Amino acid sequence: MDHFTLRDGVLHAEDVPLPAIAEAVGTPVYVYSRATIERHATVFREALAPLDDPHIAFAVKANPNLAVLRVLARQGYGADVVSGGELIRALAAGMKPADIVFSGVGKTHAELEQGLREDIGQFNVESEEEGYELAAIARRAGRAARCALRVNPDVDARTHEKISTGKSENKFGVPLDRATAIYTALAQEDGLDMRGIAVHIGSQLASLEPLEAAFAKVGALIGELRGAGCKVTHADLGGGLGVPYRAGEALPAPAEYGAMVARVTKDWNVRLMFEPGRVIAGNAGVLLTRVVRVKRGLTHPFLVVDAAMNDLARPALYGAWHDFEAVEPSGERMTAHIVGPICETGDTFAMDRECDALGAGHLAVFRTAGAYGATMASSYNSRGFVAEVLVDGDRFAVVADRIAPSAIMDAERMPDWLA
Ligand SMILES: *Cc1c(COP(=O)(O)O)cnc(C)c1O
Repeated sequence: MDHFTLRDGVLHAEDVPLPAIAEAVGTPVYVYSRATIERHATVFREALAPLDDPHIAFAVKANPNLAVLRVLARQGYGADVVSGGELIRALAAGMKPADIVFSGVGKTHAELEQGLREDIGQFNVESEEEGYELAAIARRAGRAARCALRVNPDVDARTHEKISTGKSENKFGVPLDRATAIYTALAQEDGLDMRGIAVHIGSQLASLEPLEAAFAKVGALIGELRGAGCKVTHADLGGGLGVPYRAGEALPAPAEYGAMVARVTKDWNVRLMFEPGRVIAGNAGVLLTRVVRVKRGLTHPFLVVDAAMNDLARPALYGAWHDFEAVEPSGERMTAHIVGPICETGDTFAMDRECDALGAGHLAVFRTAGAYGATMASSYNSRGFVAEVLVDGDRFAVVADRIAPSAIMDAERMPDWLA
């Protein structure tokens, strides 16, 4: 459920008509709904109610906007970060260091030091090499880094190949059959406090079965580790729950996920941790865009909008579907190719899409753009960085300025020898 609804024929975000935002901020612009973010955070937390004191860390990469993170911090969410930049953001937004988990297969020496310095809650170590490096850094600082070992359960998440992370050929985690040896070895290291196992098999999962298969393997591993004399007090089950991108699409509900987790983990005797991203932010945002012009096409017209693949990369990157709707629908329909202005055929949001009839100057939205939207923006074609707005009831605020092409150019330098 979200708070983007038609009222008197005009699409609103909560109580704000979207044309008012377009007027004030221009287009394209991401619009997030605070009530929707909070609702999703609550639904997910309530879905985990059968568990004893779960730790929930929002996957910052899904939407790293500071205001969005602040809303989630106030909901008691921690953060799952995958870079030093995300760590800075989580702290700036008010997330407690103890509630921050640091994931990622390529944490640099400097990032490991940064995490230790900030005394974050947990490092999800993705290789034995990383474990030894972190141990050395921690010893030098006279500290012990709290760690989980991320395992690769070799489970097919049945999602898009570019966002599948739990197959043995993927770069993430350590193979299950080596996990006990690696965990035991790292647990001997001064400087490491090995306390758990982490797993995350992919994103936009449409079924709970792969998750359950992965969790079952983690359960068996925990038993094996304890049998080998290791301490295991935490298990981080990652994120990955999918969201509907098409109206009416059915996906596992958070409550079904929570019930499955409770059933599979009932004898684990650990504190469970979660890293939801998309399921919290996805349907809490839209990308508001204006039709530049309607161009005649061979079979159908091209609706050329002012948003492009640099603003919303998912269709170009994953062939992803985003529902597309007029802000003030007339009731008429059309079939069109929906494209951006970028000089690349990949800059196509949809081909042969049946949608609301639109003409030059009309406003429209791409729905479900709150996760993996603005955060993936680039300045390709020397376009600026898209602005972001957060709505709260009948008020709204710009929570990320549009960055003009000239501002990006200001960071470039002409060498003396070309002056
Ligand atoms: C991306 C990611 C997540 C979040 O995935 P969603 O599908 O957005 O829930 C969680 N954990 C890790 C380690 C990730 O890389």
